[in-house]
Order: sequence, then C-alpha cells, then structure tokens
Amino acid sequence: MAKRGGASWRRRETLDPAFQQAKKLGYRSRASLKLLEINQRAQLFKRGDWVLDLGAAPGGWSQVALELAGAKQLAGPNRIIGVDLLPIKPLQGVSFLQGDFTSAGIQQKIQELLPDSGVQLVISDMAPNISGIRAKDQADSLMLADWALEASLKHLVKGGHFLVKLFQGPDVEAYGKKVKAEFGQIRWLKPKSSRSDSSEVYLLGKNRRLD
Ligand code: SAM
Repeated sequence: MAKRGGASWRRRETLDPAFQQAKKLGYRSRASLKLLEINQRAQLFKRGDWVLDLGAAPGGWSQVALELAGAKQLAGPNRIIGVDLLPIKPLQGVSFLQGDFTSAGIQQKIQELLPDSGVQLVISDMAPNISGIRAKDQADSLMLADWALEASLKHLVKGGHFLVKLFQGPDVEAYGKKVKAEFGQIRWLKPKSSRSDSSEVYLLGKNRRLD
C-alpha cells in the first residue's frame, strides 16, 4: 500500500475520480463525500448541532459539518471543533486545534471550547500513519478509535451520535459490542466513495444512552 502523504499516494489520490469530484464541489478532501453519503443514509446532522471532529485535517469533514449543521449562520462561539496533529487552513465557523488528540493538553483545550451541556456529534476519521504491516495498522487504528469512543462518552449529550473510522480486523467486532452497549443503535457503513481496496469501515453509534 502506498504510504499516506508519500509521492505515489499523492499521485494516486489526485487521479482518483472521488478526489476530483470533491475538489470540483469545493471540498478539501475526498473524505467529505464519505461523510455526505453517511449522512444521507443515517441522518446525523441537525441545524445548530455542536460537533467534535477528530482527525480533521485538511478539513473536509468540518466543511460538511458546517454545511449540514448550519453553523456558519449562527451567532456565538464556533460550534464545530476540529482536532488534528497537522495544521489546518482556517475555516470560518470552525475552531481548529493542532496537536495529539490523546494528549492531556489537547483534551484540556477541547474541554474549554465545548459547552458544559455537551455536544450532539463526535465524529472521528483519525487514522494512524500506515506502516504497511496489517496487524500493526489495525491495532493503531483501534487504539485511536478507543480514544474517540472515550471522548464520545465524555462529551455527548443524551441522544447524541458517534461516528468512527476503523480498519477491519479481528478486534473490530468486540469494539462494535462496546459501542452497542452505550448507544441505542449501531450501524456499519462502507461509503461508495471509500476505496474498495481499503479496509476502512465506519461504525455509527446512534442515540447515546444515558440512564
Ligand atoms: N476527516 C479528514 C477530512 O475530511 O479532511 C481526513 C482525515 S485523515 C483520513 C486522518 C487524520 O487523522 C490525519 O490528518 C492524521 O493527522 C489524523 N490523526 C491521526 N492520529 C491523530 C491523533 N493522535 N491526534 C489527532 N489527529 C490524528
């Protein structure tokens, strides 16, 4: 597999029809198309939602969140918070934090930006640097997904939704069970705009339970 961000990965990415379509529509990444499709199938966003976007660079999911939650038109603080290791070009209506999501410093900054009442959506497209060693990549992806789940349990309001990217592998089913225990419903989604040769899959936990 081409290393993410490497020269051959970039060449393949720019030749990809989904990438070209995303660019034509004004999105920063092909990932936007995946989120749009998931939303069409599962109705995640509502106007005015607060959204925590994990692994946000270069900002494609945040653009979609802005459109679908209508956050651009709302007064007050930015309701979309994006976090990534990489820098992200500013987007009006979104607060971006640069750093490791799993670090205490970033967790603290997130806490400061979010309302005490919680957020309606936690979405995580975080992916590790691909080593090409399948078992390692799956384990790294699962670790990020565990952190994302923890954030969703900490920050979601009752009835809120959690969307997370995973790499298919032996432990994914057990992860699904953990999510199922906390949400009213789970769904596995593989958007058409996700490459068929990619092992990525999205898990949606709908309607956070809070007893
Ligand atoms: N959703 C993005 C979009 O729509 O443009 C694409 C996200 S890309 C597939 C995955 C991102 O996860 C990378 O930018 C990577 O830097 C980020 N990432 C991986 N580990 C992370 C971590 N520990 N903290 C924050 N971001 C992380």
